[in-house]
Amino acid sequence: MRLQDKVAVVTGAASGMGKAIAILYAKEGAKVVVSDLTLEGAGATVAEITKFGGTATAVEADVSNEGDVYKLIKAAVNTYGTLDILVNNAGIMDNFAPIGDVTDELWEKVFAVNVTGIMRTTRQAMPIFLEKGAGVIVNIASVGGLYGSRAGAAYTAAKHAVVGLTKNTGFQYADKGIRCNAIAPGGVNTNIGASFRNPNQEGLNKAMAGATFNPRNGEPEDIARVALFLASDDAAFVNGTVVTADAGWTAY
Ligand code: NAD
Repeated sequence: MRLQDKVAVVTGAASGMGKAIAILYAKEGAKVVVSDLTLEGAGATVAEITKFGGTATAVEADVSNEGDVYKLIKAAVNTYGTLDILVNNAGIMDNFAPIGDVTDELWEKVFAVNVTGIMRTTRQAMPIFLEKGAGVIVNIASVGGLYGSRAGAAYTAAKHAVVGLTKNTGFQYADKGIRCNAIAPGGVNTNIGASFRNPNQEGLNKAMAGATFNPRNGEPEDIARVALFLASDDAAFVNGTVVTADAGWTAY
């Protein structure tokens, strides 16, 4: 029980990595606030958790909506009395468009969810962490946040921003008992393909050129185990950094 009685918020936890993280955290003793775009989606994850005797509650929250973010962090405090761990997992893909084909609409949507959402949840959680002198933030970035063309321009720029925000937060609050790290997953079998339609064919082909070097895709549980390590005291000395979890894809 590596997270006994810790209170965790996980965004985007109806599917994929967020769902796997919420379930693993609950198995390790955490009380989990499971949030996603719909109550139905979040509720399905909560149902799985309660089935094995874990503790979780569902909250409907769009991380790109400031009011929802406020309600989400408040829900953790109102339901379980505090907040110890924030997992910023919610994210969407772009359509692989290079800069010449990026629309303002796509750019703004990808940044609103993948970057501004993380900024706001973290900002909202910070006073709670500061008061306790303790707190852990785990951001789900991507190998697209470390390398130039694993996706389109918007997703690549957004995930690079997540890496920068992670490092800045990690350092700025290191003396306050707060840690902030990111995970950079490689290819993982989830439903993220459903978050975009009509890929830009040339952009997609160029992005996929490096896919032949990917030894294998991971499962959401592979990333959940890394997120467990980062949230636990085992990672007490790990702060302001990015853990790549990609089966060695980017080591080539
Ligand atoms: P997924 O689509 O299976 O799960 C993402 C969840 O986020 C969904 O339940 C979705 O409803 C939710 N979501 C989307 N927009 C939201 C919003 N505005 N507010 C709240 N919730 C929202 O995808 P996944 O692959 O599990 O993605 C999780 C994270 O992992 C994302 O940040 C993604 O960018 C990142 N990632 C994925 C891969 C991959 O190969 N799957 C690789 C690297 C990084």
